[in-house]
Amino acid sequence: MYQALYRKWRPRTFDDVVGQAHITETLKRQVATGRLSHAYLFTGTRGTGKTTCAKILARAVNCEHPVDGNPCNACPSCLGIESGSILDVLELDAASNNGVDQVRALRDEAVYTPAAVRKRVYIVDEVHMLSTAAFNALLKILEEPPEHLMFILATTELHKVPATIKSRCQQFSFKRISTGDIAARLAYVARQEGMELRGDAAELLARLADGGLRDALSLLDQCAGPDRPIGEQEVLDALGLAGNLETAGLMERIGGGDTAGALETLARLYSAGKDVGSLLGELSALTRDLLVRKTAPQGGAALLTGGYDETTMRRLSNQFQTVRLVQMLGLLQTTIADLARSGSRRTDAELCLIRLCDPALDESTAALNARLSRVEELLAGGIPAACAVPEKPLKRPAQAQTQAPPPAAAPSTPAREERPPWEEERPPLPDEPGEPVGYEPGPKAHVVSAETTGRTASGDAPSGGNQFPPEAPLRPPGGDFGTADTGVSINLWPGLVAAVRKKFPAVYPFLCNPSAVEGRLEGGVLTLWVQDEFTKTMVGGPHILEELGRLASAQTGGEVRCAVKVGKAPPPQAAPAEHDNLDDLLAFGRQFDNIIIQE
Ligand SMILES: [Zn+2]
Repeated sequence: MYQALYRKWRPRTFDDVVGQAHITETLKRQVATGRLSHAYLFTGTRGTGKTTCAKILARAVNCEHPVDGNPCNACPSCLGIESGSILDVLELDAASNNGVDQVRALRDEAVYTPAAVRKRVYIVDEVHMLSTAAFNALLKILEEPPEHLMFILATTELHKVPATIKSRCQQFSFKRISTGDIAARLAYVARQEGMELRGDAAELLARLADGGLRDALSLLDQCAGPDRPIGEQEVLDALGLAGNLETAGLMERIGGGDTAGALETLARLYSAGKDVGSLLGELSALTRDLLVRKTAPQGGAALLTGGYDETTMRRLSNQFQTVRLVQMLGLLQTTIADLARSGSRRTDAELCLIRLCDPALDESTAALNARLSRVEELLAGGIPAACAVPEKPLKRPAQAQTQAPPPAAAPSTPAREERPPWEEERPPLPDEPGEPVGYEPGPKAHVVSAETTGRTASGDAPSGGNQFPPEAPLRPPGGDFGTADTGVSINLWPGLVAAVRKKFPAVYPFLCNPSAVEGRLEGGVLTLWVQDEFTKTMVGGPHILEELGRLASAQTGGEVRCAVKVGKAPPPQAAPAEHDNLDDLLAFGRQFDNIIIQE
């Protein structure tokens, strides 16, 4: 008879258990020294080894020749317990025996000394499923346990176990097993079974198993075919994950801005019966994985969840900038959340795809930021801005001409001194704009000097003014953007974000996305309100918080501490919310106003 891999390769000693050394070492020591508890509570997600360890422990405490805390698996006790012929060791699944009667029967039986071995061991799986009455009956035994009795309770949902039970047990929490550990174990089992499992396929299976070794082995079982090597493609085929390739294809169309293609894909999947919500969910998961890959290329591999092969991930990853992925993830999450109360889910999904394909249609600040980053990248790469943003130069000459006359230009002459403080603090772009080739370098090249203005007035060089429009007159007139008057910024946050941009490029996309992170200064504490735990992990590093706190202290002149909280920032007391948004937007635009100068 064929035996499933996970049963065949179930560990038989503590040393065989993968990825739970913190537990197995302790249990081994307890068995070896005889300092055992009468009740254990094993917690952790499924497939991490709780029941396996319970069975090993039941054998180890009864083994006639234990080896260094491990059961020998050869003596009559070990063999009898393993085969189930020794009735003193009993396994009970609380999911099916959750009544008070079963537990009472157990209690009545428990008082008798074991017949064949030293200790009566009751393994209660899924203990959280017991009824309240059954828990109370169990508690009675745990309160005054006979010397020969041992309970091993296992649960995936610790919060459902009453505190009175927990407090009487030694508690061990089983970790999710790391992708690397699972992949290594899969490779070992495959070798022993004579299967040819490729490394990338083992990694993919391990990712899909999400920390559970039993699931990983079951998946391997499904992929095992007759005499053929198992690669990523075989895994995807065998597990019916070909749909993932559709998702990856859709993502590729989004990256290429192929709106028509994306809508076609959606229409095809929709008519094939695919739910638009789950499709957007898959896109969102893929976007998240791509984002993790970008922001944490080293340690991030363990955080990936999706069933995609490495080649696909690398290809997609090259298509997107971090900032664009952040914007996309935000848009997808919002759309998914709104789907529940949508009148036309398909239309909403289509609208979302159209926006994803063409960021220019998305008017959120995150999308704007994504587009600006793209322009910056092009500028840094030496591509003329005129090519990157073709529409804008049309407007510029007219603006430059109207503002060229001396009265308008004159105030800008000593512009260096009058620049608002925020500009001085912003780190320069890779290519400092405003220094066109052939012009004499230095600060004077930025601004319209008195001489130039004079010549313009004499009608000498209107064309020169068109080619290199002066910087200062293009600014919005008036000093109302500056915050130097009061010395305290109304909204400190955008300035801080801009200041740490070069220092923390990986987290900058999070910091500058108002729907992901909102900074709020109140009473000497700068609180970063973040949308979820993931973002908190990204932006909450002590070095980042320290730097932000230091900068905020410098700006306000007082001691400012920086903290991170998950949730929405409380509405500001002083100003209405709408006003605040406008401020944010203006502040956001200010960070980037020199982008257009080079056109
Ligand atoms: Zn033994």
